Amino acid sequence: MYVLEVENLSVRYGETQVVCGASFAVQSGEWLMITGPNGAGKSTMLSALMQAVPYTGEVRLDGENLQTMKPRRRALKMGLLAQRYAAGYAFTVEEIVRLGRYAYHDALSGFDEADEAAVTQALKETGTYELRRHPVSQISGGELQRAFLAQLFAQNPKLLLLDEPSSHLDLAYQKQVLSLISGWLKQDGRAVISVMHDLAVARRFGTRVMMLNHGHIEADNAPEKALSPALLSRVYGMDVDAWMQDLYAIWND
Ligand code: ADP
Ligand code: MG
Repeated sequence: MYVLEVENLSVRYGETQVVCGASFAVQSGEWLMITGPNGAGKSTMLSALMQAVPYTGEVRLDGENLQTMKPRRRALKMGLLAQRYAAGYAFTVEEIVRLGRYAYHDALSGFDEADEAAVTQALKETGTYELRRHPVSQISGGELQRAFLAQLFAQNPKLLLLDEPSSHLDLAYQKQVLSLISGWLKQDGRAVISVMHDLAVARRFGTRVMMLNHGHIEADNAPEKALSPALLSRVYGMDVDAWMQDLYAIWND
């Protein structure tokens, strides 16, 4: 059973087609890494999957067409960590995490024990429990990223969509966030799609890598196959393989 199926997905901004007839599917347990040059259409593709920009084609989550799914039901099944987010800066960390439970309730109904437990567990899993009373304006970028991840964990969707979840984090936080996502994925029925600039991370953590270029899928395969030296050279216009070897060789001394 596929968690997500995408058929002939296209997005245009005015005259410009930014995603050009993409078709792919993601199974339970998969972490699909979407990579490719700046402007390739990666964020736009995630936005379309989130139903945040108009598109043509069909996207199905657990076999159900997302375009006709009620927003609340959709919010229960998929969660997004955006590339840029506007946090309400008066919120505390705990309030941010509690927002992840809102789709489970009518506007006025109170939280029950299951909600409280989910919030506490998410805070603890992401190491933000000690920070729960802090306003998000007074924590670091890495801590904020973990708070938003905690919100997604509390929400407990089937599919996580992450737009460069670790790109602004220092290495310790990067490792922590990637490991948290890896751990989250272990439960049956879950899948992750993330945009990932760092090709080494894409290869290390992805079960699959999609190379997007000018809105077209150039490769969608096992990481080592999708990130072949020939394709990388063509898409990035430079010898990426040599550059990566050069960058990492010094650490072997
Ligand atoms: P990526 O995430 O791969 O860097 P994006 O999906 O953000 O690429 O952008 C793909 C292309 O679409 C770029 O040329 C970008 O300038 C353009 N674009 C992105 N968002 C918009 C928008 N809201 N309106 C018009 N053009 C946009
Ligand atoms: Mg982007």
